[in-house]
Amino acid sequence: MIQAVLFDLDGTLLDRDTSIQQFVAAQYERLITHLNHIPQSDYVSRFIELDCRGHVWKDKVYQKIVTEFEIRRLSWQALLQDYETQFQDYCVPFPSLVEVLSGLKQQGYSLGIVSNGLGTFQTRAIKGLGIQDYFEVILISEIEQMRKPQAEIFHRAAKRLGVTAKNSVFIGDHPEADIMGAKNAEMKAIWKRSSYWQEAKEADAIIDELSEIPSILEQFESNCQPANDAHAPDR
Ligand SMILES: [Mg+2]
Repeated sequence: MIQAVLFDLDGTLLDRDTSIQQFVAAQYERLITHLNHIPQSDYVSRFIELDCRGHVWKDKVYQKIVTEFEIRRLSWQALLQDYETQFQDYCVPFPSLVEVLSGLKQQGYSLGIVSNGLGTFQTRAIKGLGIQDYFEVILISEIEQMRKPQAEIFHRAAKRLGVTAKNSVFIGDHPEADIMGAKNAEMKAIWKRSSYWQEAKEADAIIDELSEIPSILEQFESNCQPANDAHAPDR
């Protein structure tokens, strides 16, 4: 019986690519008096390149931006602070996010987030999406001092929810951190397909949209169909 549903944040609940794109374009506009020697499209595309899909923290990104674009009247620290305080206003959810979360709550599932990242920043992003009240537990790697794919962080999340790992489902976009991590912790794992990775072999099911989650959970509950056939056409 599934009692809890746990989520990754970036690329799973938060459409990070769109959010970053919108934030950086707006940052350029906001600080244009200091940046107007740079074409906006160059500023945006270089940021996205240096960010490496979030794997490079923005202190490094802005140090390079300031040097490469010869920004004189704005420090990298000022740009970083702008990122830390303003990004939350540009957080874009994947479609149906609130409907899915509220539906799962109504069905009685306990909900949680397990995210690799910085505590204050990820907390602000969750608030930016306006979804914090749906979750009974939110674990962020910096605060927990452990990170996915370590099994301990999945176990800790289940324990805080008062459920077992076996009665929990984890949904994420990263094949190793989310899917392998959850499976090693004995949770069921749903891979939210991402164009950045070919596949997540260990996943019990695959989704493209959050709105597919309720029916996948039903399948898990009824246990009448192998998860790999979740997208097989009806015969
Ligand atoms: Mg992710």
